Amino acid sequence: MVEPALLASFRRVLHSGRYVLGPEVESFERAWAEYCGTVHCVGVASGLAALALMLAAPGIGEGDEVIVAANTYIATVLAVSRVGATPVFVEPDPATRNLDPAAAERAITPKTRAILSVDLYGHPAPYPELASLAARRNLLFFSDAAQSHGARVRGRPIASWCHAAAFSFYPSKNLGALGEAGAVVTSDPQLAEKIAALRNYGSRSRYVHDLVGSNERMDPLQAAFLMDKLPHLDALNARRREVARKYLDLLRGTPGLGLPPDPGPGDAEPSWHLFAATHPRRDALIAHLAGRGIDALVHYPVPPHLSGAYAGMGLGRGAFPAAEKLADEVVSLPCCPFMDDGMVGRVVEAVREFAGGDRGGEGS
Ligand SMILES: *Cc1c(COP(=O)(O)O)cnc(C)c1O
Repeated sequence: MVEPALLASFRRVLHSGRYVLGPEVESFERAWAEYCGTVHCVGVASGLAALALMLAAPGIGEGDEVIVAANTYIATVLAVSRVGATPVFVEPDPATRNLDPAAAERAITPKTRAILSVDLYGHPAPYPELASLAARRNLLFFSDAAQSHGARVRGRPIASWCHAAAFSFYPSKNLGALGEAGAVVTSDPQLAEKIAALRNYGSRSRYVHDLVGSNERMDPLQAAFLMDKLPHLDALNARRREVARKYLDLLRGTPGLGLPPDPGPGDAEPSWHLFAATHPRRDALIAHLAGRGIDALVHYPVPPHLSGAYAGMGLGRGAFPAAEKLADEVVSLPCCPFMDDGMVGRVVEAVREFAGGDRGGEGS
C-alpha cells in the first residue's frame, strides 16, 4: 500500500545528494510536532538517543535522581544512566500497570530533577496527575512515548501534557521507520534548540562546538519514509483499537486471565501498541497458543532492577513486588492492525480453551 511512496522517497533522497539532516528531516520534524500538539520536534537517531538527549538538555547528570517506572523496557532506565544520573524505581499501580503518582511523590528527594513516565503497551501514564505533581514539586516531567504514537488523554495528544516526550520509530512501533530513528517533541524552544545542538556534535553553527555533544542525527532517508507512513497512523491505530475492543469484550471473565485497563470514553485513548494480558500460568498459556499457531510474546520477562545491568544497585527480588509479578505473568496477545476478525476470533477461542482446561479457578 505504502510501497510505491517509499520507493519514490528512496529515489528522491538518492538524487538529492543530502544524506545527513537537511530538508527531509526538517519536514518530518514539522509534521511530527504538529501531530503531537507541540511547537518543536528534533529528529534523532533512535528512541534511546531521544530519551538521553531529553534528559541531558536541561543538564540532568551526576548526582541527580530521575524517577522511573519499575516496570518498563530497560531503555527508559538506560537513558537515565547514560547521562550519569541515578534511576529511582517506582512501583506501578497494579490496576493500570502505570507509574503510581502517589508512589512517585513518596520517591522524591532533594536530588530529584525529573519524573520520566512511560506509556507502557501504549496506555497513557496518568498525565494530568503527574503534570500537577511535577509542577507542585518543581520537577521536570518527561515522557517515554516510544510505545504511544497517537495516544491521547482527555482529547489531547499525550506530548502536550509534559515538558517533553521522546519517541522511537523502531520498525515495530506504531509508527516505524525502515531502520533506526527517534525524536523529541516539546514546546520549550530552549530545550529543543539544545537537543538539536547535542545531537550534532554540540554544534550550533559549523565548526563551533559550544557543548559536549555526540552524533545522534536523524537519517533523512528514515525521515522521508516516516513522512510516507505518517498519514496512515491514525487508521492503523483505529484498527488496533478495534482488535483490543474485541479482546476486552470477548475475554472478560475468562478464569485466571487479567486484562489491560479498559479505557472509558473521554478518558485515555491508548495506542494499543501491545495487548498485554496476565495469567498466573503464563508460560503454559504461551505454549498452548503456540500449539495453535499463535505467537504470543512476553513484554518484558525481567524488570530492569533485576537485570545484570543494574545488579550493582543491590535491588534483589522482592524490591518491587508489583513490577516483578507483572514480569512473571504478563503475556502479549497478537494485536496488530493487519489482523482480521477471524484471526482475533481464533486467538480468543484458543485463550478460552486454555482457561477452560485450567482447573485452577472458576470464573463467571
Ligand atoms: C522501543 C523503546 C525504547 C527505545 O527505542 P529505540 O529506538 O529502540 O532506541 C525506549 N522505551 C520504550 C518503552 C520502548 O518501547
